[in-house]
Amino acid sequence: MTNVNTLIKGAKTLGIELNEEEINNFVLYKELLKKWNQKINITSITDDIEVDIKHFIDSITPLTTNVFKENIKLIDIGTGGGFPGIPLKIIKKDMNVLLLDSTMKRIKFLSEVVDELSLEHVTPVHGRAEEMGRDKKYREKFDIAISRAVASLNTLCEYCLPLVKVGGHFISMKGSDVDEELNEAKNSIKILGGRVKDKKIIDLPSSDITHSLIIIEKIKETPTKYPRGGGKPKKKPL
Ligand code: SAM
Repeated sequence: MTNVNTLIKGAKTLGIELNEEEINNFVLYKELLKKWNQKINITSITDDIEVDIKHFIDSITPLTTNVFKENIKLIDIGTGGGFPGIPLKIIKKDMNVLLLDSTMKRIKFLSEVVDELSLEHVTPVHGRAEEMGRDKKYREKFDIAISRAVASLNTLCEYCLPLVKVGGHFISMKGSDVDEELNEAKNSIKILGGRVKDKKIIDLPSSDITHSLIIIEKIKETPTKYPRGGGKPKKKPL
């Protein structure tokens, strides 16, 4: 029998009361994660309690901000094994979610998770953020772009802000020490049409880990020359 106490308690600390269906979905998700992780590298975190805290609870901390309105469209950039996109969707069911990753095998895993958990309006997509940001189908179409553990903030802004609608938000999930990164990203945020709205410090329940959420509001359209191609957002951040 799986012990779900850490998960239930952790969510409660964040003000989120998990129901039976949500708990079952997290349990099933963890089983799939462990099964696939034996064949392909999805995560180095495999201990039950650690998955609950560092993946599941950490992923849902953005729900403590006030930017998750009704029926929004969210894109999770560099989602890997589905973090934070899948845990967010398990709880916020009315969201339309696009899970983007540049590794095909992770997209295959996510397709199975979506099927097994019967998640509606969740689309795993294989691609690169900087290419999607130039594609009319996706550019400035999302209420929220979110990303965890993918790149430095200045690079991430060029991956994420072009995909966000004016009036929408980019949430960057970072560690505790973000001031220097924020400072280095000032230029990039401004050029791409963003404005730092908030920096929220999060103490992860049942751990001594502190994380931060940087919330950037999109206040004007991103100039058409961004995102740049040829790996420039990473090699030569704005
Ligand atoms: N967000 C997940 C998490 O927090 O567990 C995965 C983090 S993993 C360290 C980074 C992921 O970002 C990888 O799965 C990689 O394939 C993906 N990635 C890196 N650069 C990307 C890009 N430009 N566009 C899309 N995905 C990208």
